[in-house]
Amino acid sequence: MRKAKIVCTLGPASDDTETIRSLVDAGMSVARVNASHGPTEYREEVLDRVEEAIGATGEPVATLLDLRGPEVRTAPLEGTVALPDGSELRLVEGEVVDVDGGEEEGEGGGEGAVLGLSESVAAVEPGDRVLLDDGRIETTVLRVEGDEVVVHVDSGGDLGGRRGVNVPGVDLGLEIVTEADREELRLAAEREVSYVAASFVGGAADVDAVREPLEEVGAEIPVIAKIERAGAVQRIDEILDAADGVMVARGDLGVECPLEVVPLVQKRIIRKAGAEGLPVITATEMLDSMVHERRPTRAEASDVANAVLDGTDALMLSAETAVGDHPVRVVETMARIVRDVEASEEHAESLERRVPGATDTQTDALARSARYLARDVGASAIVAATESGFTARRVATFRPAMPVVAVTPDETVRRRLALLWGVRPLYQQFGDDDAAELIERSATSAIEAGVAQSGDTVVVLSGMMTWLEGANTTNTLKVHLAAEVLASGRGIADGRASGPVFVAPDGDLSGCPDGAVLVLPEPFDGELDGDLSRFDAIVAAERGMTSFPALVARERGVPMVGGVSLDVPDGTAVTVDGKRGVVYEADVTGRR
Ligand code: PEP
Repeated sequence: MRKAKIVCTLGPASDDTETIRSLVDAGMSVARVNASHGPTEYREEVLDRVEEAIGATGEPVATLLDLRGPEVRTAPLEGTVALPDGSELRLVEGEVVDVDGGEEEGEGGGEGAVLGLSESVAAVEPGDRVLLDDGRIETTVLRVEGDEVVVHVDSGGDLGGRRGVNVPGVDLGLEIVTEADREELRLAAEREVSYVAASFVGGAADVDAVREPLEEVGAEIPVIAKIERAGAVQRIDEILDAADGVMVARGDLGVECPLEVVPLVQKRIIRKAGAEGLPVITATEMLDSMVHERRPTRAEASDVANAVLDGTDALMLSAETAVGDHPVRVVETMARIVRDVEASEEHAESLERRVPGATDTQTDALARSARYLARDVGASAIVAATESGFTARRVATFRPAMPVVAVTPDETVRRRLALLWGVRPLYQQFGDDDAAELIERSATSAIEAGVAQSGDTVVVLSGMMTWLEGANTTNTLKVHLAAEVLASGRGIADGRASGPVFVAPDGDLSGCPDGAVLVLPEPFDGELDGDLSRFDAIVAAERGMTSFPALVARERGVPMVGGVSLDVPDGTAVTVDGKRGVVYEADVTGRR
C-alpha cells in the first residue's frame, strides 16, 4: 500500500465522472476543486460528479475546495488582455506600460497593456516589483498616479488572461476572505467537502477568518492553510497552531520569495507540520512537463521522490490533471514513483530517523508506542478504532512502517482520513460492541482492507470504557492476531483449537489425521466411527446440544461449533472458537 497520498486538481481535462473514476483507480485520494477558475456553479457540478464517481468505487476519497483568496489575476483573455491578432499580449523588455490600460505616450507599449489591475495593486509604490504569470514576466513600478500604476518591463513575455499577479512583500490591503470566497464557503458547507484550503494566509488570524463563516453555518470543515507568502513562512508556528493542515504552495511561494528558498522552506514546513501532527500537502509543478508530455523529466521524478523522503502526507497535481493532455497517466506515474521510493532502504531509514516526540497526551503516548510495538512484534498493520479520526491521525504522525487501518463509524471522518499519510480508512459501525468485540472486528477489517491476512499479528488502538475516565480518549493498545471469520454458528463446547480440516460426511474417521478439525457437513443420526482422540475440534451442520458429536465434544473437552456447513477442502487450516461459535481461517490460536 502506498503511504503518501495524491491530490488531483479537477478541471476541464478531468471533470467528467468517468475520468474522475479512472483517477481514483489510478491512485487519487483527494479531489481538489480550485475556486481560482470558473464560477461557483462549475464547482457545484464537479463535486456532484465526484460523489457519483466515488459512489461507484466505494473508495474513500476526500474533497478539497481551494479558495481563491485575495489573489490578483490579469483580466480575462476575451476582454482586455487579448491582442487584436491573437490570444496573448506581448510585453517587451524595456517597455513602459500602464497596468490599468492605455498606452504610455512616447514610451513604447505599442498595444497598450490593459491588465485591469490598478484597483487591486493600488498600494504599490515606485520601486516595488509586480510579477505576472507566476513570475515569468517581471516589472518594476515607475510611478503611481491616483489609479494609474505605470511599470517598466524588466523581462518580457507573452501574457494570457487570468494569470497570477504577485507583488512580493507588499501588503495590498485585500480582504483575506473576499465576497467570492464567502460564496465558495457556503458551497463547501452545503456539500460538506472534506477540507477547505485558505489561500494567501499571513497568520493565524487569517485562518480564523476563513473558519468563521463556516462555523456560522454550523460546518466544522478542517482548514488547510496555504503557505505561499514570505510572511506566512515567518509565522508558520502560529499558523500551525490555528490550522488543521498546511499546503506548501510552491507556485506562489516561488514568486513571493526568492526561488532558491523554496526547497528548504518545503523541508522545514513538512518537518514542523509533522512534529505538530498536522497533514501537509506539497504542491505545484510536481510533474509539470506531463501537462503535455507522456513522461516526466528526471528532475520532476526526483522532486516527487524528495517530497516523499521529506515525509509529506500528500503530493498535489494542478495543471497536470486539471488541463493536461493525459491526467490519468500522470497519476499512475506519480503513484509509481511514490511506491518505488517507499519500498527503498533510504525511505525506511528516513522514517526511523524522524519520529517526532509524543506530546503529553495519553493518545500520543499510546500512538507512539503502537509504532514501535508494531515494528518489534512484526505486525502487518496498526488498526485504530477512531470516532473523530484523531487516534488515526496521531498514529500516522509517528510514521509507522506498516499501514494504519482507521476504522470509523463516521463516513465524513472516513473520507477526511484519505488525505493522511499511510492511513487506509474503513467504515465500521461500533454499535454496542464490548471491548473485545470492537478489537476483534477492527482487526478483521484489516484483513478486509487487504493489509493483513488471517493469522497475522496486528496492533490495535482503541478507546475502551472511556466513560469511566470521563473523557473520550484512546486508552487501549493490544497485540492481536487478525483472523478472518469463515463461518459462525452455535457455540456447543467451549475452548479454542486449530488444525487441518478433515471432512467426514458420514462420521467415518478412518484417514483422520492427528490434531484435525473434524467437519461434519450434513446432520446424521449415526455415531462417529473410528479413533475419537484423533480430532481436536468439531464443526458440525447439526445445531443440537444432544447429538452424538456434541456429547463427544463435551466428554473430550474439545471445542465445537454447530449449525455451520463449512465448505473448505480437507487439509485447510482453521481455528474453532467454541465459546464464540466462530470458525476462523488459519491457525490463530498462537499469541492470543
Ligand atoms: C500554489 O501557488 O502553489 C498553489 C497551489 O496555489 P494556486 O494553485 O491556487 O495558485
